[in-house]
Amino acid sequence: MMGIEPSLHGKTALVTGSTSGIGLGIARALAQQGANVILNGFGDTAPARDAIGATGVRVGFHGADLAKSGDITDLFRYAEAEFGGVDVLVNNAGIQHVAMVDEFPPERWDAILALNLTAVFHTTRLALPHMKVRNWGRIINIASVHGQVASVGKAAYVAAKHGVLGLTKVTALETARLGVTCNAICPGWVLTPLVQQQVESRAARDNLAEADAREALLAEKQPSASFITTDQIGAAVLFLCSEAASQMRGAAWTIDGGWTSQ
Ligand code: NAD
Repeated sequence: MMGIEPSLHGKTALVTGSTSGIGLGIARALAQQGANVILNGFGDTAPARDAIGATGVRVGFHGADLAKSGDITDLFRYAEAEFGGVDVLVNNAGIQHVAMVDEFPPERWDAILALNLTAVFHTTRLALPHMKVRNWGRIINIASVHGQVASVGKAAYVAAKHGVLGLTKVTALETARLGVTCNAICPGWVLTPLVQQQVESRAARDNLAEADAREALLAEKQPSASFITTDQIGAAVLFLCSEAASQMRGAAWTIDGGWTSQ
């Protein structure tokens, strides 16, 4: 039977935004399958480096601000010089801002589009030449249920994530005859720092205890009434890296506790 868990020994994975949350979970899963991992992101990088280093693989780090295309160019120069290129690209870094369209600060719109969508274009275009030469590669875009449906107050995020699904499909078509695949994962609520901020705003807005705000958030959108875990997203990434997934091309794979079935 074809393995659903790939051996990634000798491969290099770049996971953007991997100093926390979903990105860190994905980096850990890839490292456990033997991939060398290039981490990226802001904040305290030591816990992520230590966690991935403990698996015994080679760990790199580049602190590119992915909202700046020049930084992304530097990141790929680093990947080429230190690791010989990127075989698995996970576009995960993302930010959120919640406000009604007519009150949405234009600079937040620009920042969200730059990171959540334009950066995915730049990393993809810079990763593809190496993958084409090797005739093997995996591009996995962490989109969102908000790539498929909308929510009030999330104009920039929803627009960017819908864009990511479009870019995923085009990239999949352009690589369809190669050993390179491009797919997206569309999670529902995962309890990470990004969602914790929304829990706290909800608690403040509705005068709720934090636990009640978490429950309210889930009750509104996620029929399973429980959070998806970063390990579950990591496992889906591993499947997309496997040979068994080589005909998954351009998919938008929901892991959403039933959110988009409603
Ligand atoms: P998070 O806030 O925990 O992590 C975001 C990561 O991105 C961090 O490592 C941060 O340092 C990094 N980052 C932020 N700005 C950056 C920049 N300009 N350049 C480089 N790195 C930057 O968020 P998360 O919840 O783990 O989200 C990860 C991805 O998953 C995002 O794309 C998000 O849209 C998506 N997602 C999250 C959820 C959820 O419920 N948490 C659901 C669906 C989709």
